[in-house]
Amino acid sequence: MKNIKAYAAQDAHSPLAPFTIDRRDPRADDVEISITHCGVCHSDVHQARNEWGGSVFPIVPGHEIVGVVTKVGSSVKKFKVGDRVGVGCLVDSCQHCQSCKEGLEQYCDNSVGTYNAVEKDGSRTYGGYSTAVVVKESFVLKIPDNLSMDGVAPLLCAGITTYSPLRHWKAGPGKKVAVIGLGGLGHMAVKLAHAMGAEVTILSQSLKKEADGKRLGASAFYATSNPDTFTKLQSTFDLIINTVSVELDWNLYLNLLKRDGSMVLLGIPNTAPAVQAPALIFGRRSLAGSLIGGIQETQEMLDFCGKHGITSDIELINMNQINEAYERMLKGDVRYRFVIDMESLKKA
Ligand code: NAP
Ligand code: ZN
Repeated sequence: MKNIKAYAAQDAHSPLAPFTIDRRDPRADDVEISITHCGVCHSDVHQARNEWGGSVFPIVPGHEIVGVVTKVGSSVKKFKVGDRVGVGCLVDSCQHCQSCKEGLEQYCDNSVGTYNAVEKDGSRTYGGYSTAVVVKESFVLKIPDNLSMDGVAPLLCAGITTYSPLRHWKAGPGKKVAVIGLGGLGHMAVKLAHAMGAEVTILSQSLKKEADGKRLGASAFYATSNPDTFTKLQSTFDLIINTVSVELDWNLYLNLLKRDGSMVLLGIPNTAPAVQAPALIFGRRSLAGSLIGGIQETQEMLDFCGKHGITSDIELINMNQINEAYERMLKGDVRYRFVIDMESLKKA
């Protein structure tokens, strides 16, 4: 496919603008997808602005992709034309290392990101801020029939990135889970942990989103701008999910863990604070991190969301509103995920 419409950043300091890309013709094991919606993740901003270093421009961001199958390769078994499908942060991996064998493709040293990465054939990957994409069958997900496409898009990154650690650290009945930051990832963490049966507390900068937080499934909501929060909640949580995209004083939060509790980092600021050893040692606490989720677990998460009727709370935007959406996301002014209606780009 030639001259596919897309939006790209040409360098770290320019706004995103119209761009055209080519997509390969489907190989035997490929699925061609007409993109209907794409979620806007904070990682898109980090990479479009080269905040982590190593971005290769031009970048077409977008790894919360949903759409409809328009063509399948000759050996494709799981999908047919017309199916509703999703693509998340990965489009390939080595498929034979220990992580791949265990369905943890995100930890494969040779995994291929949906954008800002290089395919095995040497071509660059371009993401979902575009009208169509071609992806290997084994990296394409099925979308449950009862869920709306626009609300599902953010599940492909924000959903799986929070589902995976909640499962790994066994969130469920009898467990107290705190979520730091009520943004795209944070609001999904609240919905999913609540659906798993855990007791959820939100730690947000202010009390502005308290009513939303309770509606999303939290039983308690605290402002981190109030120092009393950190005395009141000492030694309270089994698990803290940290979704904040900027540097925070982790020591304050580690002290909110019970004995043997864990704080899992999901947000990826480019600088990190010094951790005080006693905050970990007195209480045998753990500080951990977690990266998105594997393909099998992503399908499990989508099916879990289908069963529980869970989608993301979204604000639908047109493609040409993307730069404004980035600015609003940086100010925390989004409830709770921007999703691009790709019809707007197809028509443009
Ligand atoms: P987001 O929608 O912008 O949410 C981040 C939230 O952090 C904000 O809504 C805000 O919540 C809080 N926050 C922002 N600035 C803050 C500050 N100065 N102090 C304290 N809290 C602040 O972003 P997102 O899309 O959820 O992504 C969050 C982070 O996760 C990003 O760094 C992203 O790159 C990363 N990420 C990681 C993975 C992974 O695999 N580990 C996957 C996807 C994304 P409140 O207003 O409630 O405080
Ligand atoms: Zn993401």
